[in-house]
Amino acid sequence: VNPAAVRWLSAELRERFSGRVSKVALDVGPGTCPNRDGTLGMRGCAWCDPRGSGPDADRERPWQESLARGAAHALDRGEVGVIAYFQAFSPTHAPAEELADCAEEALAVKGVVGLAVASRPDGLSPDVLALFRDLHLRTYFWAEVGMQSCHDGTLAQCNRGHRHAATVGAVEALRAGGLRTVLHLIAGLPGEGPDEMRASFDETARLAPWGVKLHPLHVVRGARLEEGWRRGEIALLTLDQYAGLAADLLERLPPGTVVHRLTGERPGDLLLAPEWCRDKRRVLNAIRCELARRTSARAPGPGEVPR
Ligand code: SF4
Repeated sequence: VNPAAVRWLSAELRERFSGRVSKVALDVGPGTCPNRDGTLGMRGCAWCDPRGSGPDADRERPWQESLARGAAHALDRGEVGVIAYFQAFSPTHAPAEELADCAEEALAVKGVVGLAVASRPDGLSPDVLALFRDLHLRTYFWAEVGMQSCHDGTLAQCNRGHRHAATVGAVEALRAGGLRTVLHLIAGLPGEGPDEMRASFDETARLAPWGVKLHPLHVVRGARLEEGWRRGEIALLTLDQYAGLAADLLERLPPGTVVHRLTGERPGDLLLAPEWCRDKRRVLNAIRCELARRTSARAPGPGEVPR
């Protein structure tokens, strides 16, 4: 892979808005998830924490206030504005009218220049898709879908509550609506080795979403994984292994895919392991080094100057 071909979200936003734009992560519907409220199950996904995999959201105040503060701080720093990011739990599990109200409130906040909504692949009802299409026409919008793995056995083992076919269907439905779609992947899920993970990366490349997110499996306090990890039953990736896998993903992505995240840092009180996850810069450096190593190791292509 040519590291220069990797398109980072920060660059995408800078180009689109002619300046820096950051995200404000929000929890707009505490506890709203079909895999936790009994609709599909009560136990949640194996890795999910009590904050609904939305660790960045400020829960000390109403989300509207968090967004207003985040946007005001961004403007004070000289940024163009922020993307309101409905991150925690499964915001599309709420009735579409409620989600639409939240979107309206968010877009009305000074400094908000766009919106992103995270969802499960089985959480895109026709009403939600219609809302997304409307938002796409009115603002800079993307939808995030948790694919995690393309292997139904892994999804079942992690109590995900859907099969990979749901992800394929979600991507098709979002693409049909002309929407920007981001797929989430997790490297190192229980029972998966490098071949299984690379198969998920190949499948991601085949689905060709607008953007991707990858993070290593990590154990957070309160997740179902915690117990097995404490018993020594959960093997976690080393930093070197993860850097190699992240490079494998980047090598496979179609040029122009927007890379939203390659790390999985969590607040100090929440993360139990692996320790290296705490250091985002170290993780990104390891990935950069791996990419550079691969680039210098490969034979020059046609028209390239041999080193
Ligand atoms: S990871 Fe998402 S879908 Fe899974 S239990 Fe947590 S909030 Fe629900």
